[in-house]
Amino acid sequence: MSIRILTIVGARPQFIKSAPVSRVFKNAGIQEFVIHTGQHYDPEMSAVFFEELDLPKPYAVLECGGLQRDAMIDKIVADLCPIITEVAPQYVLVFGDTNSTLAGALAAEKQGVPIIHVEAGLRSFNDEMPEEWNRIQTDEFSHILFTPSSAADQNIEDEGFLSPHQRVVNVGDTMFDAVQMFSPFARHRKAMGALEWFQKPFALATLHRMENVKHPERLKERISSLNELHLHGIPVWMPLHPSTRNEVEKEGVEIAFNTSPPVGYLEMLWAIQQCAIVITDSGGLQKEAYFLGKHCITLRNETEWVELVDIAANVLHPLGSTEPLSQKVRSMLNQPLPEETPYGRGDAASQIAQFLLEQGS
Ligand code: UDP
Repeated sequence: MSIRILTIVGARPQFIKSAPVSRVFKNAGIQEFVIHTGQHYDPEMSAVFFEELDLPKPYAVLECGGLQRDAMIDKIVADLCPIITEVAPQYVLVFGDTNSTLAGALAAEKQGVPIIHVEAGLRSFNDEMPEEWNRIQTDEFSHILFTPSSAADQNIEDEGFLSPHQRVVNVGDTMFDAVQMFSPFARHRKAMGALEWFQKPFALATLHRMENVKHPERLKERISSLNELHLHGIPVWMPLHPSTRNEVEKEGVEIAFNTSPPVGYLEMLWAIQQCAIVITDSGGLQKEAYFLGKHCITLRNETEWVELVDIAANVLHPLGSTEPLSQKVRSMLNQPLPEETPYGRGDAASQIAQFLLEQGS
């Protein structure tokens, strides 16, 4: 009998992380039932990925979008429990660190189904981040913890919560798989702006973390440092996350650089390939920059992807930094990028499937 897995996704990075896994599961004959929690629901934050990445049609779409964290988690858990009973999977699989991740794990725990956590063990050691709480609790509940890096393995060991029924398996990063799988199809689209604009050196920027956008003073500081780069360094282009757009409008923050609505993954890969440097507070983008041979400046005080900082492919730009962003960009672009692959070989999805098949046999 084939393995049945109930996969929970709900936010943009999870659609991307899940794409290589779903493809490998299909080829390996693993039966997957995908539940979309509805955490991200705008077409450009959700539907575009199902189309572009050929993701499996969800078995069910829940409607948790727009709820506050606790209410969102409660609703997902309540909606998922009967689905878990109906599908009767061997495992519930969750990705990353969103509310949907933790809710998926809580529902599975409640129904007594073993949990698989892909991208386990990451820590920022910043307990202001809801993602940090989501990660820690999900790891504690999980039975199989697929980690992307040795730092993640070490974090799990240091916390000392592991019991004999939990397994930690370092498979590398499924986002590396996704970059390899989809970058040959990277493309420009008109909605990003004119093609000619992207043919000169530019900085690709994204900003969406609560710690940056949900505090007006911090949001103003981040935007004004990007304005400085745009006016005194190289032009900046930012696909604006819907919640950042809301905050910018609410606070009346002036943006001097180019923006577009959020773009699909193939467009994003194209923009990374074209740009001179990536400037971001996104977890995924820090790695994609490196996989595609670009320097990265991270608009945060710390990162979970410490390896890239250790090898100087990524430099943090903490809040309150006095160094202008234009100066930081200039000095980074003068440094060669190191050649190391800290996040596996780009076959994380195959290793995950292989491991599960071995458990089932
Ligand atoms: N991304 C995208 N379109 C955009 C902005 C980002 O496809 O307009 C992709 C990006 O390339 C990466 C993922 O979304 O693969 C990162 O998601 P996000 O920054 O929302 O979350 P995080 O990685 O910080 O959890």
